[in-house]
Amino acid sequence: MNRSRSHDLFQRARERSPGGVNSPVRAFRGVGGEPVFIERGEGAWMFDADGNRYVDYVGSWGPLLFGHAWKPVIDAVCAAAARGTSFGAPHAGEVDIAEAICAAVPSVEMVRLVSSGTEATSAAIRLARAATGRDRILKFAGCYHGAADPLLVKAGSGVETLGLPDSPGVPAGVAANTLTLPFNDVERLEELFTRHGETIAGVIVEPVVGNMGVLIPKPGFHEKLRELCTTYGAVLIWDEVMTGFRLARGGAQERLGIRPDLSTFGKVIGGGLPVGAFGGKRDLMKLVAPEGPMYQAGTLSGNPVSVAAGLAMLRALEDGKVYEALERTSARLCDGLSALAKEKGIPHVLNRVGSMWTMYFTDREVFDYDSAKTSDTARFGRFFHGLLDRGVYLPPSQFEAAFVSAAHDDAAIDHTLEAARGVLASL
Ligand SMILES: *Cc1c(COP(=O)(O)O)cnc(C)c1O
Repeated sequence: MNRSRSHDLFQRARERSPGGVNSPVRAFRGVGGEPVFIERGEGAWMFDADGNRYVDYVGSWGPLLFGHAWKPVIDAVCAAAARGTSFGAPHAGEVDIAEAICAAVPSVEMVRLVSSGTEATSAAIRLARAATGRDRILKFAGCYHGAADPLLVKAGSGVETLGLPDSPGVPAGVAANTLTLPFNDVERLEELFTRHGETIAGVIVEPVVGNMGVLIPKPGFHEKLRELCTTYGAVLIWDEVMTGFRLARGGAQERLGIRPDLSTFGKVIGGGLPVGAFGGKRDLMKLVAPEGPMYQAGTLSGNPVSVAAGLAMLRALEDGKVYEALERTSARLCDGLSALAKEKGIPHVLNRVGSMWTMYFTDREVFDYDSAKTSDTARFGRFFHGLLDRGVYLPPSQFEAAFVSAAHDDAAIDHTLEAARGVLASL
C-alpha cells in the first residue's frame, strides 16, 4: 500500500506540532510506524491522502454512531452554520438538547453544555467537591476521564502508551487528592471507604471501561460502589463520555440499571463536533453558577452548530432501533474474529459490550488494568499493521476500544473478516 503522501505530511507535521499530531494516541506510538493522514470519510469507510480506503473502527474515537458524513448531521450542520456559527447568547437548540438528554437519561434532571469531555469531567469533579466540602476523588486505575490535572493519575491508554503514568506538570498536591483502586475489586473498595469514606468528595468511573481497551464490570461492582457512595455521602459520577448514547439511548446506566448522582457526556452527543455535557440531580446542578456558587463557563459552550449536530444524532436514537442493529453487526464481527483466532490457535480475549470491543492477545481473563497489561502488545502491533495494510483501520493501541457504527454493513464486516483471516494466519 502506497502511503507516500501521508509520509510527506507527517514529516511536515512533525516540524510544527509535537509528535506531528494534535492528540497523542493518533501518533501510532503504541503500534510503531507512521500515522495515516485522512482525507475524507463515507459511512464505515475512511480514505487517506494517497487514496487508500479502510473500514474504520475508530469512528473518531466514539462519536460517529452512524458513520462518516452521515447526511442528517451534515444537513443540520450546514443549516445551523448558515444561521451563524456562534452567538454567545442562549438559543432554542440548547433547550432542545438539554430536554433530549434528560428524556433519555432519567438520572439527569438538569444539564450544562461544555465543549469537550475533559471539560465535563473537570466540572463534575469540581461540583462533587463543592457539594461535599471535601477534596478527595477516587478513580480507577486505567480509566481515562480526559486530560485535566486531577484525573491524569493512572489514566490508561494514551498516557499508558507513552509510558507517562503520571504526567510531569501535574502538581503533586493535586495528584495527592486523587486516590486510585483497581477496577472491579469490591473488597478493596470496601476497605478504602471504611478507612477514608468520610473524606471522599466523589468517585468517577467509566461504567463500562473503554480506555484500557474494553473491560466489562463484574456483577456487584457497580452496586457496591453505588451503595458506598450513598452511605458515605460521596458523589457518584459516571463518566459516560464514551458509553453515553452508544451502549443504549440511556447509556450504560440504562443497561446496568443503576443511577449515578452526576453523569458526563461527550462524543455521540456532538455528532462529531466538539461538545460535552455534565448533568444529574437537580439539587447538585443548582450549585452551578449562575444559579449557585460553583463557577463554570465557556465562550463556545452550547455552540449552535455542535448542538444542531448533536440534536440530529439524538433524534435518530429515539426509537432505539439502531442499538439492535449495532448489537447484531458487532456480534457478527466479534464472533467471526474470535473464531478465526481460535482456528489459528492464537490465545486471545475478545471483550465486547454492544458496539465497543477490544481484542487482547492474552490467555488470561481481562477485567482490570493489570490483567489488560498481560496482553502481548507486540503481537497486537503486528495485528494492527496487518489489518491496516489490508484496508482495516483499528485504534492504533492495544488499550483502546474499537467502535462499530450503524454504517458497518455486511460488505464492511466481510472485508474485515477476510483481512483478519490473512493477518491471523501470519501472527
Ligand atoms: C474521550 C473521553 C473523555 C475525554 O473527552 P474529550 O472530548 O476528549 O475531552 C473523557 N472520558 C471518557 C470516558 C472518554 O472516553
